[in-house]
Amino acid sequence: MVHIVILLTGLFAYSHMDFEVDRDPGPTGDPSLADMTRSALSILQKNPKGFFLFVESGRIDHAHHYNNAYRALDETLALETALLAALALVNPTETLLVLTADHSHVFTFGGQATPRGHPILGLDNKVSDVDGQPYTTILYTNGPGYSNPRSVPMNVTTPMESKNQVFTSAVPRQWATHSGEDVPVYALGPLATTLFAGTFDQSYIPHAIAYSACLGEHRLRCQGLDNYTSPLTTCVAPEVSSVSAANGPVVIASSVMADDSARPKSSCGIIKSAGIIGLYMVLILEYAVT
Ligand SMILES: [Zn+2]
Repeated sequence: MVHIVILLTGLFAYSHMDFEVDRDPGPTGDPSLADMTRSALSILQKNPKGFFLFVESGRIDHAHHYNNAYRALDETLALETALLAALALVNPTETLLVLTADHSHVFTFGGQATPRGHPILGLDNKVSDVDGQPYTTILYTNGPGYSNPRSVPMNVTTPMESKNQVFTSAVPRQWATHSGEDVPVYALGPLATTLFAGTFDQSYIPHAIAYSACLGEHRLRCQGLDNYTSPLTTCVAPEVSSVSAANGPVVIASSVMADDSARPKSSCGIIKSAGIIGLYMVLILEYAVT
């Protein structure tokens, strides 16, 4: 008898799962993000039509809201482990992987502590030149780590103190906010270097994925140029919804558009083949930078 998986749900907690550092890794504990990624892939890869997988490392965000840099960085390492687990299971010539964040956080690395090997969770190697007191190289611009007068960090002595340390913030808030700077988008796989180069609005990302995977408005792209309504623009990055797109195709990144328009027609065939054969996986993994 052949069993076909239609729906599969795994619920491991009543609310958020534990942070990785607090997780019970034993046989009765919760799975890691990498465990769940491997399990999802083991099922999805059986579909000959390909698949879409969304993996989110959502607790990076939560730790930053607490100004708890240790857990935020540790969760980022768990995300890296999940990515490495995925890379070991897919063929990047036929699977598109996209790694990005939906926002950044008010989290900075600063100070004079530039020597290689300086502990990232530690103090700057010089004290403040105003109040003569030490400060951590990691700081938040708002959040629960605020105090007046400012808290003077001590060299933490135990692992527990290190894990639970709330880093200094400049403005009091019970819950640190997100921030607004650009975040990177890393991509590997079919059309990755063409579609995910330069600077673009985040609303462009699903259009680029759809283009690469021949989905939605791009579903005919993989069926041959004869069926494609605009063969001359087959390999041009799709229009995206953004303010600058109002009067025509947005220049997502000048290098991308230049590369596409210069690409010989034959290269479209290569791209098309990848789309027909390909299994596509997308990892949209939330992590935070700066
Ligand atoms: Zn958040």
